Amino acid sequence: MKKILITGGAGFIGSHVVRRFVNKYPEYQIYNLDALTYAGNLENIKDIENKPNYNFIKGDIVDEVFINELFSIHNFEGVLHLAAESHVDRSIEDPLAFVKTNVIGTMNLLNAAKKQWKDNFDGKRFYHISTDEVYGSLGNEGLFTETTAYDPNSPYSASKASSDHFVRAYGETYGLPYVLTNCSNNYGSYHFPEKLIPLFINNIINNKPLPVYGDGNYTRDWLFVEDHAIAIDLVFHEGKNHETYNIGGFNEWKNIDLVKLLCQIMDEKLGREKGKSEELITYVKDRPGHDLRYAIDASKINKELGWKPSVTFEEGLERTINWYLNNEEWLKNVTSGSYKDYYKKQYS
Ligand code: NAD
Repeated sequence: MKKILITGGAGFIGSHVVRRFVNKYPEYQIYNLDALTYAGNLENIKDIENKPNYNFIKGDIVDEVFINELFSIHNFEGVLHLAAESHVDRSIEDPLAFVKTNVIGTMNLLNAAKKQWKDNFDGKRFYHISTDEVYGSLGNEGLFTETTAYDPNSPYSASKASSDHFVRAYGETYGLPYVLTNCSNNYGSYHFPEKLIPLFINNIINNKPLPVYGDGNYTRDWLFVEDHAIAIDLVFHEGKNHETYNIGGFNEWKNIDLVKLLCQIMDEKLGREKGKSEELITYVKDRPGHDLRYAIDASKINKELGWKPSVTFEEGLERTINWYLNNEEWLKNVTSGSYKDYYKKQYS
């Protein structure tokens, strides 16, 4: 049985990837390695915890000794690396935490894989899941392609850019078989409510202000998380060695338009008077170094691997909102405790 290591599988995207791999590939033994930081939650993958091909390991990728030990016990044939510090606002507060996990953590995994696979790279694959934010900001025109120069502006994107570079360098220098993807903003179930869509759904439910940065004209390309998981599955199995693929939703929205759309849908769902939730919109001081626009050209993965989003934005949002409305307990649990302190510091 092939042993596959997935890091960060208790987080938002990782939980969808782990679920897909465990359910779809009974012939793989899946090892989910996660430190269970504030963003990691075993509730996100409760439905698969008893499957015979699923294994959870609690551990920190920054701990080099632990990672080396793990690789000496298990002969992993593939690594899908998603564990990361992932929130831009937090990276502005504490950049070093992002260097530790995103750069040093990735290095530890690269070194362990290189050491384990040194005699035989056949059938091995190191897959780094990354972000479109490494490309910096677009103006009103154009799209990010795989050859767009890296130009990161936040400590988060700088740390992801750095880890991308190390993955490539290990491919070029040591021949490590890798694939890399840079994806646009994801949305869907199990998304920690510090990020825009779940934050606003939660605040609308609770009649709390909707904090919109600057003038609300920042533009993002949104992709349903299950479509990202499908793309990751495809790239892991069929992507060309030493290649990068951009993944995106062909779905650009200005933040303010997206917030208004969420307000409209939520008014209907909650049986509120039309326009009621929009009254909660509050413009707050802009984030420093805020990128104006991200938009992905996903034509390479479309042409080479036949991937395109399987759900429309309307359908994805409908499923997402319904999920949060049906899982208020999950929302309550993740927004208790330290979340409250973070929220107060960020938005008051
Ligand atoms: P997330 O913050 O929801 O989850 C990250 C997971 O990594 C958590 O379970 C956390 O416990 C774990 N983790 C953090 N530090 C760790 C450490 N030192 N050791 C082991 N585990 C650790 O993040 P996400 O939104 O699911 O993103 C997953 C990956 O996808 C990240 O690499 C991110 O850069 C990338 N990405 C995210 C998006 C997006 O829109 N969310 C878009 C493109 C790429």
